[in-house]
Amino acid sequence: MKVHLKIRRFNPETDPLAKTPLQKPPCKNRGLPQGTTAGDYRKKPWWGHYDVECEPTDRVLDALNYVKWYHDGTLAYRRSCAHGICGSCAMRINGRNRLACKVLVKDLGKKITVEPLLGLPVIKDLVVDIAPFMEHYRSMMPYLVNDDSPPVTERLQSIAQRDRFDDTTKCILCAACTTSCPSFWARPDYIGPAAVVQAHRFIFDSRDQAAAERLQILAGPNGVWRCRGIYNCTEACPRDIQVTQAIAEVKREMMRRGIR
Ligand code: SF4
Repeated sequence: MKVHLKIRRFNPETDPLAKTPLQKPPCKNRGLPQGTTAGDYRKKPWWGHYDVECEPTDRVLDALNYVKWYHDGTLAYRRSCAHGICGSCAMRINGRNRLACKVLVKDLGKKITVEPLLGLPVIKDLVVDIAPFMEHYRSMMPYLVNDDSPPVTERLQSIAQRDRFDDTTKCILCAACTTSCPSFWARPDYIGPAAVVQAHRFIFDSRDQAAAERLQILAGPNGVWRCRGIYNCTEACPRDIQVTQAIAEVKREMMRRGIR
């Protein structure tokens, strides 16, 4: 089958400057790109159009590889495992955040639009700067904290204790949830659903001792209360994690402990 790919392209090194100066910032909270003023000119993204011959069982990632290998070698996108595990190829496909390695072209029709994730700065084409996302992730102390002396054997858990946080252990840090969240688009300082998922994974782990510390951070002005329950995150998650439910459970735990 022949598929038409429309890909958002941007190369800060070679794209021409826009004809008009930067206008007002698109959102009053976001401000202008760093180091610019409203009088500056900036480079504009553009759309690349490519016809690709695909097998129906090809994935969007295969189609992107075809474009890169046979149409334009300068096309930039992240990819690694190509099997839905590493989370590298998260992008906006036909208006929804998905992993390019998990979506079959036959399920999308003959016209496919591919864009970078929203809410993070674009480095080139479909590659975004995930540093702000990882900063939020790190702020949640995404590791086991336990100051007791190590036991002779493992730190044992019952099946029920392990089940309590099983869903959130599946996160692959693809950023699809956080970059589909309007609260994050409006306030990039908002910690975002992925960081809350990581916090949930440890808060409800019976072996961990830093739940109160994590909840205190989440109670802050850029914490979990910025979530408005829009559910985009749950729909975007390629691992089918119940992200909104995890956020609600963290909010409930905070209230149960009287943390504000
Ligand atoms: Fe990706 Fe789901 Fe983890 Fe969010 S919760 S980062 S969508 S795997």
